Amino acid sequence: MKKIIVIGGGPAGMMAAIAAADGGTGVILLEKNEKLGKKLFITGKGRCNVTNAAELETLFANVVSNPKFLFSAFYQFDNRAVMRFLESAGCKLKVERGERVFPVSDHSSDVIGALTRELQRRGVDVRLHTRAGGLLVRNGARETAAVISVGKGPSETRSDDPCVSDGISGTEGTAGISGTGAKICGVLLEDGRRLEGDAVILATGGCSYAATGSTGDGYGLAVRTGHRLMECFPSLVPLAAEERWCGDLMGLSLRNVTVRLLAKSRLLYEGFGEMLFTHFGVSGPLILSASSYYAQELRRRRKKGAKADAALGRRSGTVAGKESGTAGGKQPEAAAGRRPGAALPDCRLLIDLKPALSLEQLDRRILRDFEESKNKQFKNALNGLFPARLIPVMIALSGIDPEKRVNEITREERAAFAGLVKALPLTVAGTRDFDEAIITKGGVDVRDVNPSTMESRKLPGLYFAGEVLDLDALTGGFNLQIAWSTGYLAGESAAERVADA
Ligand SMILES: Cc1cc2nc3c(=O)[nH]c(=O)nc-3n(C[C@H](O)[C@H](O)[C@H](O)COP(=O)(O)OP(=O)(O)OC[C@H]3O[C@@H](n4cnc5c(N)ncnc54)[C@H](O)[C@@H]3O)c2cc1C
Repeated sequence: MKKIIVIGGGPAGMMAAIAAADGGTGVILLEKNEKLGKKLFITGKGRCNVTNAAELETLFANVVSNPKFLFSAFYQFDNRAVMRFLESAGCKLKVERGERVFPVSDHSSDVIGALTRELQRRGVDVRLHTRAGGLLVRNGARETAAVISVGKGPSETRSDDPCVSDGISGTEGTAGISGTGAKICGVLLEDGRRLEGDAVILATGGCSYAATGSTGDGYGLAVRTGHRLMECFPSLVPLAAEERWCGDLMGLSLRNVTVRLLAKSRLLYEGFGEMLFTHFGVSGPLILSASSYYAQELRRRRKKGAKADAALGRRSGTVAGKESGTAGGKQPEAAAGRRPGAALPDCRLLIDLKPALSLEQLDRRILRDFEESKNKQFKNALNGLFPARLIPVMIALSGIDPEKRVNEITREERAAFAGLVKALPLTVAGTRDFDEAIITKGGVDVRDVNPSTMESRKLPGLYFAGEVLDLDALTGGFNLQIAWSTGYLAGESAAERVADA
């Protein structure tokens, strides 16, 4: 019987295995962890926001990197199809605020349970504790292994750098691996065993929350088989701020505020909602979204810098004075990736604490408050405007003497204060690391993948699905939708290819 091997038992890999099995081929699903869906288990704070029930155009609008690449995948297996699939597999769903879809039980384990049952029902051969260490490629009579890590025990191969697949040694380069006549013929397991297959689907995830198994293995395998890799950045991640006062406000959550992210005066992001102060800076839904555009800007400038360097014949790769590229003697593809904490020197957040009021309306409101507490000191006249913990910070930033009586505050001082309330500035010092990032921005270059099938343009028989690809979206269930849609399309296309062969 023809066989398809899926590497990675996350949402993309499980869906790919299910779709491939529906095509009538034998399917082996390899997962290096002791169980399937370790990351899926922690999604949505354990509730798993499986998808978003909005119209398809909203789905596309929420994809930040390469939305057009997802055209076929989204149309082939859209959010309604995901919902139908999970419900028919026994996982009842509900739609919450913002069209976010969750299991009725609020337990991600029910989503994993449904997928596991569907895998079993189709006879998918699930192999846990099984790490793929290489891809087998045949070119005529010659078989070559594109290896990232083989013949080592798991403890020896663990890397503390989530985006550098340990053991990418690869002195052999990609010669003979891709190109005319080459095609995939199996997987080399970490323990050295060979597993033959007619097609392979790479669904190894990105490199965020590495403890869940997403350690960037797929990047090494892709590069070793001649695919380009887009540099990886943590995304949907808290932002560090230079201002020390954020730490004083740790735990304070602000609702109904507007946040704008600017690079110099260029607006990168604007959103309304909730944010949170932390010991290092800021977090919360608005900030996570802002971080995606921050990472996008980092990436844009890296590309621009690389182009300028290439034109000048220089080696590429500095961001904020940090070297990237071929760091530490690692191979370029291994070091590509990982820009945690990389900073843009000119990026700021402006928090509008009173977005419902125009500057003039706010000024009138402050004037009214001051008139009501005429003989009070400035520090005692702000209770109606902000949460108590924010008052000392706002007073310090205003430069107005806290002991000053409000009827002595000048019109100019009051106007400047209103301006501060409408645009409380924070200097972004960078993103937090991959271990705190919901998603990885970057990965296998979509130009090397056929969007109608998810098949590699470099190596026939190799397919990609999920976060390993250079695809990412905002929060709201959109990232899992990417995993389901690309997984389904990869599985279905691989099965068609194998059946036709
Ligand atoms: C805290 C958190 C909360 C999130 N919440 C949501 C949410 O509510 N909604 C949403 O849409 N998105 C959410 N996401 C994002 C979502 O989890 C990812 O988009 C999704 O898991 C990507 O699926 P994937 O299958 O591509 O990769 P992964 O889920 O990372 O799965 C990849 C799998 O491959 C395995 N693997 C890797 N290398 C190998 C190898 N060499 N051999 C064998 N197996 C291997 C890994 O162990 C892993 O199980 C969240 C992410 C995080 C971190």
